[in-house]
Amino acid sequence: MAATVRVMKRPVRKSSYIRATLQGMALTFRHMTKSAGDTSTLTLQYPEEKKHISPRWRGTHVMETHEDGRPKCVACGLCPTVCPANCIKLVPGEDDQGNRYPIVYEIDEFRCIFCGMCQEVCPVEAIHVGQHYENAEYTRASFVYDLDRLMSQTHPSTLLWDPSDPAGE
Ligand code: SF4
Ligand code: SF4
Repeated sequence: MAATVRVMKRPVRKSSYIRATLQGMALTFRHMTKSAGDTSTLTLQYPEEKKHISPRWRGTHVMETHEDGRPKCVACGLCPTVCPANCIKLVPGEDDQGNRYPIVYEIDEFRCIFCGMCQEVCPVEAIHVGQHYENAEYTRASFVYDLDRLMSQTHPSTLLWDPSDPAGE
């Protein structure tokens, strides 16, 4: 598609800030009268009421577990390698049968940019970003989620983008 350039002309006369202010006030007043008696469309009683978030919302991580409570992570090292924010810490271990598992697995949710790449690369679908955003904390250290905390998250995992269903329907 050819790009077109549209030249905008600046107004030649001086603009009146008083008129612009009055126009803005008129718009505000129109909205005030329009919403009178029906504040429910504008006001949400958070946290009792919450807005629906997309199933593709990428928020607080979830570590999936096996039925016996073990983390699904096999400590392959892919997610800390691919993470652009360098916020995943993994110390891998190996049991007597040669099965790998994470001795330490931490995600710094404060540094994370919620790109979802850790979820995309995980070969065993262990780590997921989640449909959750209420993760405010009082201290910087509290944003570092260890393995137990990641496994205890109960919110739904995020659905990955599906090229065959780009609109998510
Ligand atoms: S969502 Fe992105 S930035 Fe956050 S931990 Fe995963 S790979 Fe790193
Ligand atoms: S990519 Fe998956 S299996 Fe590999 S270290 Fe990360 S969470 Fe564990």
